[in-house]
Amino acid sequence: MSGPVTDTDAFVAERSTPGGDEPPPHDLSATYAIEIVPSRVADVAGHTVRRALPRRDRRTIGAWCFVDHFGPETITPATTTQIGPHPHIGLQTVTWLLEGELVHTDSLGTEQAIRPGQLNLMTAGHGVAHAEDGRHHTHGLSHGVQLWVALPDRTRNGPAAFEHHAELPVVELGQARATVLVGTLHGVTSPARHDTPQVGAQLALNGRVEIQLDPRFEHGVLGLSGEIRVGDQPLRADQLAYVAPGHTSIVLASDGAARLLLLGGEPFGEHISMWWNFVARTKEEMTEALRAWDDGSDRFGSVPTRLPRMPVPQPPWLSAP
Ligand code: MN
Repeated sequence: MSGPVTDTDAFVAERSTPGGDEPPPHDLSATYAIEIVPSRVADVAGHTVRRALPRRDRRTIGAWCFVDHFGPETITPATTTQIGPHPHIGLQTVTWLLEGELVHTDSLGTEQAIRPGQLNLMTAGHGVAHAEDGRHHTHGLSHGVQLWVALPDRTRNGPAAFEHHAELPVVELGQARATVLVGTLHGVTSPARHDTPQVGAQLALNGRVEIQLDPRFEHGVLGLSGEIRVGDQPLRADQLAYVAPGHTSIVLASDGAARLLLLGGEPFGEHISMWWNFVARTKEEMTEALRAWDDGSDRFGSVPTRLPRMPVPQPPWLSAP
């Protein structure tokens, strides 16, 4: 999905450079200092989503800088997802479905359907455009997440790329089954590209599990369905639990079947600015990008799709014409 970040709350997402010594890893019996971050409701192409990142008090978790949870929503031919061509810079989009189907098309010439259990990973680099079309999915449920990963300075102006992973590694952990989207969990590594140290996994949980964590990472747990507890804290499906670096494991539990997303990474040590579909460092960079999209410049190419191109909203730092 596209994630227009247009409100002032989300305008500038910044994180200070972490300094000082790393906290010592806690032992397995340690209690967690967990911060519950509520999502806010946002609209993406007429569909209500719960946006867990960025929030005023929590901009990033590792390089994860944007977390939209959409559905479950019963869709019809009239309401299926139709997100026309729009540009991205400086980020990766990570699309993961629990229900439904989308067709991704982009300015690299990719056309790729995605179904539950598969991963679409688009690296924007200096610029890419894409569209997401639910044209083959006109009944039943739509449910999934779209996540953004901020690219480090080293690759954020590099070439665009797209990966589809039809199958991802799975780790059986007793009462949980983890699908590793990005990075490594319990020694099992996803083939998906990542440019900074990070992890992303979906857990299907029915009971209790202790998940090993990389103590260098900060983590977030997002409830997707069912009743979940993170440590002792109940977590609703519209909440994100933040766990600071320094933990070597976390206990997750559910009453009955539940699904959740585990996201983590080394604290992102670069200041980022986010607006609309851009992750950059300065307003000047975003102005340059929005003008390139407005002008139909080669920077973003063209997307072969039936859907109409998305216009740039008025940025708050430029006066209205
Ligand atoms: Mn998009």
